[in-house]
Amino acid sequence: MDARVSGVDSCDVAVVGGSLAGAAAAAALARAGARVVVLEKARFPRPKVCGCFLSHEALPILRRMGMDEELRKENPETIVRFTLVQSTGGRVEANLPAPVLSISRHRLDALAAQAAERAGARMRFGATVVAVEGDLKSGFLLKGQGWELASRAVVGAWGRYSPLDRRLERTFISRKPSLFGFGKTLTGKSDHLANRAVLHFFEGGYVGISRVEGGLVNLAALASRRVVHEAHDDLEGLLTRLSGRSVSLARDLEGLTAVPGAALISEPVSLGTHGALAGDVLCVGDAAGVIDPYTGIGMSLALLTGDAVAASLAAFLAGTLDAKSLRQEHLRRHREIAGRRFFTSRLFRPFFSGGALSRLIHPAAAPLARWAAKVTR
Ligand SMILES: Cc1cc2nc3c(=O)[nH]c(=O)nc-3n(C[C@H](O)[C@H](O)[C@H](O)COP(=O)(O)OP(=O)(O)OC[C@H]3O[C@@H](n4cnc5c(N)ncnc54)[C@H](O)[C@@H]3O)c2cc1C
Repeated sequence: MDARVSGVDSCDVAVVGGSLAGAAAAAALARAGARVVVLEKARFPRPKVCGCFLSHEALPILRRMGMDEELRKENPETIVRFTLVQSTGGRVEANLPAPVLSISRHRLDALAAQAAERAGARMRFGATVVAVEGDLKSGFLLKGQGWELASRAVVGAWGRYSPLDRRLERTFISRKPSLFGFGKTLTGKSDHLANRAVLHFFEGGYVGISRVEGGLVNLAALASRRVVHEAHDDLEGLLTRLSGRSVSLARDLEGLTAVPGAALISEPVSLGTHGALAGDVLCVGDAAGVIDPYTGIGMSLALLTGDAVAASLAAFLAGTLDAKSLRQEHLRRHREIAGRRFFTSRLFRPFFSGGALSRLIHPAAAPLARWAAKVTR
């Protein structure tokens, strides 16, 4: 579908960003009878930097979106065990509290967007929103290159970092982001990775590896600005150097080659809550806050918070909830879903930063690792 809108088109709710949070919000709103337009700057399917670890909390939302069958057909990997490895070789292994699915964002995001469209949302790909003006009282005007869209409400699902954050004067944007994600898809002999996810720590970050659908292997890393800077953006070279320093990483990557194409680098990663409101825009998923990727629950939070925005927004559209109550209800629901998880993930962050505490990774720490995996979700 084309992004170009001549004159001013209108809808009840405009959703900015059509990935997981946006698709979940759009599907739930459309099911509730709202006229929804999703504006997504990319054209799907597209790759994305992510560990691809889809935790079980997301499954009821995916079921509601009618994605069960399609997900099964993709044949995602089921992950039951995780391993944390120090560059010096120390390692800890434990079972996950519940099995999780591992599927590429290339496939998952496309399926989620299709589900939103099936539910009745209008998807516009290749539509970058450059400005959002207005409020819940008088309505919104969204602007892109050569088009405008009027809506009564806006859901912000634009992810971890967007020029819109600056335009909306969000306070987190003044914090200098210290982390970046990068990723690659690998192919080859991957039996040694069956049903497990591995995090390899290095000074300044970690590399996560797991199989996804079709026996492909997903590699996603989180690294400090310093590491990325020193690598001069040569992420392939960085990976080679890290493998040279870690026998375990080299062993996990043995027999695997990169699928053609450059390594992906993510938007800056600014960990922590960003606020579930940007003016009167109701933010969901990473746009409301970025949870530490080591938890493997960012995607679930995106789906849960996206889905949750629909009930109160539907009441607002029906006139049974005023703007002030909608804002309060949205903040309350967001806190209920994400508040504790952000708190606990922050507590364990020093162990997962590749710094001194990551050196505590040791077989004797297995009960602690199991416990951390449980309480951060
Ligand atoms: C290295 C790394 C590893 C991770 N590993 C995991 C993991 O294993 N498991 C897990 O659950 N989570 C993981 N995460 C977190 C996960 O990727 C995010 O939590 C999740 O993608 C959030 O989904 P979202 O829909 O909120 O945002 P996104 O998936 O970022 O989607 C935002 C969408 O908005 C669009 N957009 C942005 N700006 C505009 C605009 N102006 N106009 C129109 N469209 C716009 C973008 O194109 C994008 O499609 C990881 C993150 C990193 C950095």
